[in-house]
Amino acid sequence: MASDETADIVVVGGGMVGLASAIALKDRGLDVALCDPGEARARTSYGNAGVVSRGSILPMSSPALWGKLPAYLRNADRSLRLNHAHLPRVLPYAAHFLASARAARWRRAAEALLPLTSAAYPAHERLAARAGTGDRLQRTGWLKAYRTEDAFTAAALEREILAGHGVAFEILDGAAVQEAEPALVRPYARAMLLTETGSVREPGRLIEACEALFAGLGGRRLRGSVTRLAREAEGWRIDLEAGTVRARQVVLAAGAASGAIARTLGYRFAVAAERGYHRHYALHPESPPLTRPVLDTGAGSILSPMGDRRVRVLSGVELNARDAAPDHTQIEAASREAAGTLRLGGPLDNEPWLGSRPSTPDGMPVIGKAPRHDGLIFAFGHGHIGLSTGPITGEIVADLATGRTPAVPVAAFAPDRLLRWPRLF
Ligand SMILES: Cc1cc2nc3c(=O)[nH]c(=O)nc-3n(C[C@H](O)[C@H](O)[C@H](O)COP(=O)(O)OP(=O)(O)OC[C@H]3O[C@@H](n4cnc5c(N)ncnc54)[C@H](O)[C@@H]3O)c2cc1C
Repeated sequence: MASDETADIVVVGGGMVGLASAIALKDRGLDVALCDPGEARARTSYGNAGVVSRGSILPMSSPALWGKLPAYLRNADRSLRLNHAHLPRVLPYAAHFLASARAARWRRAAEALLPLTSAAYPAHERLAARAGTGDRLQRTGWLKAYRTEDAFTAAALEREILAGHGVAFEILDGAAVQEAEPALVRPYARAMLLTETGSVREPGRLIEACEALFAGLGGRRLRGSVTRLAREAEGWRIDLEAGTVRARQVVLAAGAASGAIARTLGYRFAVAAERGYHRHYALHPESPPLTRPVLDTGAGSILSPMGDRRVRVLSGVELNARDAAPDHTQIEAASREAAGTLRLGGPLDNEPWLGSRPSTPDGMPVIGKAPRHDGLIFAFGHGHIGLSTGPITGEIVADLATGRTPAVPVAAFAPDRLLRWPRLF
């Protein structure tokens, strides 16, 4: 790469959020350069469950957290695994997370997220149509399955909030679960079928197709990691491992790496990496197909169909340093549970995949202009819903960069809410 490259705007990070932003910015006639190391599997957007749901409005920091806290701290709940040694490094995040786990805040977050998640599926349809991946997006709904009546009852507040916001769902009893998803061999007491939900088969293929779309629009890819952002008199200097690019504006969309990059400008965000794993299995030849993603709440894991009768088994959350060595405890447990839920063959890949959800403690992304620097837009922290809300975030970013009012209100996603924490690390 030449060291004197210039662009109107540089997008840092080529996952779902960065690519969608780069494409939407090209659509507005800007000269766009996208910086990314270019390793497909390094993107969280590659390895997720593919769920695109209007109902994904309820952050992890739920009021139920308080009851589960003792089990979480002992690593006795499959949905969360803590590296205790890492906790001091994420204290601001953890403190903010606990503060968010109140019913009133949960309701407020749901209200703020609803316009974003409501716009997510249509934005996916628009993008998939242009990228030629429309057949990978299927509106099959998704199932949240409960093994016991007690577990279903414990989720009553979630259903109340979803119903209050007009999110469509059906409650299924055990027999109806079996009828809806005959591939499930485990008996479930109840399930919630979120009918407005779709899913992307092989999200990695969508990402590849978006890269091709961006290139076809004349977008430039600069391979390499951004090491530093610096404000200059005329605009921005973006330092990569090899070379420099200058631009009038920058979009920081580097997923879970965004917090570290923002620090080069003095922003200390209360964010963390919520790591997650997946592994693929073939369905037994005599099993009916799995038609939609299933969240097995008892296992704290998701089973997602990826096409060709392949099932992606996904683990819950591991709170750990982004670059710590993999810990396969959760994905091994999820795989054992999956073997009792579906008729599966052996694993199809040698090693489980590992990725990091770019997580904020209140479960809402950071989308907005940087409070202390002109020409810098933050677009990260999409946590559990970044595949879903990436395409609409891209459209919002393009609005912000070109001085338009975003179609989706973003005041609740303002960066400064996560900058008000003491410098503990
Ligand atoms: C197990 C699991 C299941 C999930 N399931 C779902 C789901 O069903 N639905 C859903 O909506 N979401 C889901 N998610 C979350 C979703 O995958 C993420 O929110 C989303 O992928 C984040 O997109 P992103 O573009 O912000 O980050 P990423 O996809 O991680 O992209 C960030 C990019 O920035 C690049 N980068 C990093 N550092 C630098 C640097 N210094 N310079 C330049 N580039 C850099 C990276 O290489 C990467 O390409 C899941 C996540 C996990 C882990």
